[in-house]
Amino acid sequence: MPQYNRLRGTKDVIPAQTQLWEQIIMKAARTLKLYDYSLIVTPVIEETALFIRGVGEGSDIVMKEMYNFQDKKGREIVLRPEGTASVVRAYIENSLPVKSNLYYIGPMFRYEKPQKGRDREFYQIGVESFGDPTPYKDAETVKLAETFLKELGINAFEIQVNSTGCKECKPKYIEVLLNFLEPRKAMLCEDCLKKIERGAAIRVLDCKNEKCRETVMSAPLVTAHLCEPCDTHHKLFLEALKINGVKFIENPRIVRGLDYYTKTVFEFITDKIGAQQNTILAGGRYDNLVWELGGKKTPAVGFAAGVERIAEVINAGGGFTTEDKVDIFVITDKQYIKNAYALVNTLRESGIKAVMSYEEKSFKSQFREADARKAKYAAIIGETEIQNKTVMLKNMETGEQKETNEQGIINLFK
Ligand code: ATP
Ligand code: MG
Repeated sequence: MPQYNRLRGTKDVIPAQTQLWEQIIMKAARTLKLYDYSLIVTPVIEETALFIRGVGEGSDIVMKEMYNFQDKKGREIVLRPEGTASVVRAYIENSLPVKSNLYYIGPMFRYEKPQKGRDREFYQIGVESFGDPTPYKDAETVKLAETFLKELGINAFEIQVNSTGCKECKPKYIEVLLNFLEPRKAMLCEDCLKKIERGAAIRVLDCKNEKCRETVMSAPLVTAHLCEPCDTHHKLFLEALKINGVKFIENPRIVRGLDYYTKTVFEFITDKIGAQQNTILAGGRYDNLVWELGGKKTPAVGFAAGVERIAEVINAGGGFTTEDKVDIFVITDKQYIKNAYALVNTLRESGIKAVMSYEEKSFKSQFREADARKAKYAAIIGETEIQNKTVMLKNMETGEQKETNEQGIINLFK
């Protein structure tokens, strides 16, 4: 028989890990609801043009990471590489309220070189908040991200913040930057030269190439070239972070790889999972994107976090102690399987995690299975119990046994 393997850069998340995933998703949902966010679900496939327009032609994503193809009618389709452009499209297309707080969880696809913390299919939890232009919202978004990670027991990260300016001051800064880069082109990687060609010189600043990094060390800083409104916004953002008790570091070299950011940008960096994949969460403000994708002028701010990288950090710290125990394993003789079947059902209806073996098996092998499932109790139904309408309940830890009945078990777990 043929054997099939998963594609390079994809993975199966098996139960040993999904317990952690469940925690991440459940805790994320709880924190996000506390901050007044609602879940939005958008398609995994979108028109390719959405991301070329949204994320930008000079971005890594559009330049080399898109999983795009033509469908049977020759339409240009892409497996979404990120969530923001999709959510903005959905926000416009569904005429959602101007002020909307939305969050999403789902797979993203990027044709990257697979390595630790870098897959071709990976999951993101992200938020997008529409309609609030104030720096308080930016700070709240950072605080929300921090709360979400701390709720998961993650404390080892650094919050780096910056401003990349707006339509007014960004182009002026880029001119200054270009003047700086022009005589240093020989020191830049192929990619960075392409970025400059495509009008995305600002992205040279966060290139991961060692030589490029060195070169831009002495580059002029964007924060020194902000226009008056952007400068005021940035200062108030930093102040609001302090009011929220958020500890941060100003890093003027953070520009984010996506075209759409204006003003505030931020990254949550960890030293727990390797230098090339050290960003676990990133985001910022994008006041022009809704308009650029055909909607009304609407300010917005958001972030996206990588689920795999979050799981990595938690595992690096020893992981969670998760409960995969069964409450009750019901054990019986073959002629009473139907009685046991009914009992399992009643217990489940009362919220008790009960299991049994539907196949006819010896008591001994059923006990072995109960041990393997780490059952807290075994409920035994034999001839005597049937006659007395009782159940023998055995505490699997202490070995203690006592006669009880259905209601007795339910009361025990209340
Ligand atoms: P990087 O600089 O690591 O390539 P990025 O700037 O491309 O990240 P974003 O587009 O901002 O990342 O995505 C937000 C988060 O999604 C990242 O911080 C990371 O946790 C996660 N992420 C991005 N790309 C991948 C990937 N290929 N595999 C796993 N997680 C990823
Ligand atoms: Mg990337």
